[in-house]
Amino acid sequence: MNRRLPVYLLIDCSESMIGGGIEAVRAGISAMLSKLRVDPHALDTVHLSVITFDAEARVAVPMTPLLDFQEPHLSIRPGTALGAALTLLANRIQTEVRKTSQDTKGDYRPLVLLLTDGQPGDDWRAPLSRIGAQVRPRPANIYSIGCGTDVDYSVLQSITDVVLRMEDMGPESFGKLFIWLTASVSSASQGVGETNDGKIKLEKLPDNVEAVTGKAAPLEDGPPRQAFLRARCATKRFPYLMRYRFDTMVGCYQPVKAHRLSEEDAQAASKGHLPDIPSQLLNGAPACPWCENPGAGSCGNCGTIFCSSPYAMTAETKCPGCGNMLKRNHRADSGEGFNVRQSGG
Ligand SMILES: [Zn+2]
Ligand SMILES: [Zn+2]
Repeated sequence: MNRRLPVYLLIDCSESMIGGGIEAVRAGISAMLSKLRVDPHALDTVHLSVITFDAEARVAVPMTPLLDFQEPHLSIRPGTALGAALTLLANRIQTEVRKTSQDTKGDYRPLVLLLTDGQPGDDWRAPLSRIGAQVRPRPANIYSIGCGTDVDYSVLQSITDVVLRMEDMGPESFGKLFIWLTASVSSASQGVGETNDGKIKLEKLPDNVEAVTGKAAPLEDGPPRQAFLRARCATKRFPYLMRYRFDTMVGCYQPVKAHRLSEEDAQAASKGHLPDIPSQLLNGAPACPWCENPGAGSCGNCGTIFCSSPYAMTAETKCPGCGNMLKRNHRADSGEGFNVRQSGG
């Protein structure tokens, strides 16, 4: 039997990936597949698996030969359970990867590509021993790629030696990243990149990706860098996601942008639960991406956050969550002290 090169893509599907990030990853996987499928070495050896993580980790695609691989549907949900993802990875490697025995050579050392853009929300230290983070040579080659500007690189450095940074999260940037990942997988599949210590030699990095060298400082404790609130358009009832960023100077969350959500993603996301955040910590709201209403309020009856216009104080608003008629607007920045359900990733 052929020696296989198991490749695991560990993909952060938390809410911070919304706004192009997740679509770019989908497109990247798709481009990677079509490229590797015409590469005879890769076709012969590469087996691909996708593990996603948000509030929990799940196997989106178990280890599959390239030709049979079906692209997974990736959806955005709250949470960044990196620890759960590492535990699941360790379990999958344990069951899927063939070990070398006396008379057969097992699979090549798995190549793991971890893509994350935030701070882990669970215990990621406990599973480190399971993935052999302290063992040399390591049971798997893990490369972590931090995307965006809110990554805790000290965490990634505890997981693996090779930590890369890609600050720009635009589709073009992800495109270059996946071209590079594909080339690295391809050369790993030829075995030429495997050095004496068992590490895979990486292809030359694209200009938008840099290696993080030197010890990264941990992000200071305190509130999470980003916060996400789910809302519904009061005019059209469609769901959306408000993104906030913590402003350490002012000590509150500033609105960044609101993103349209599909009904499916809105349903998927209602499962995770995070502690409420007091509305006093929110400095206003981003405009509704469906109707451009500039503010937001919260229904006292069902807790739904909805878009509102500060200029329509007299008009009655129908809560898009429970249908109650609300007499007046409660703007998120009115300081009235309601708690809003956080939905963070
Ligand atoms: Zn609206
Ligand atoms: Zn309501």
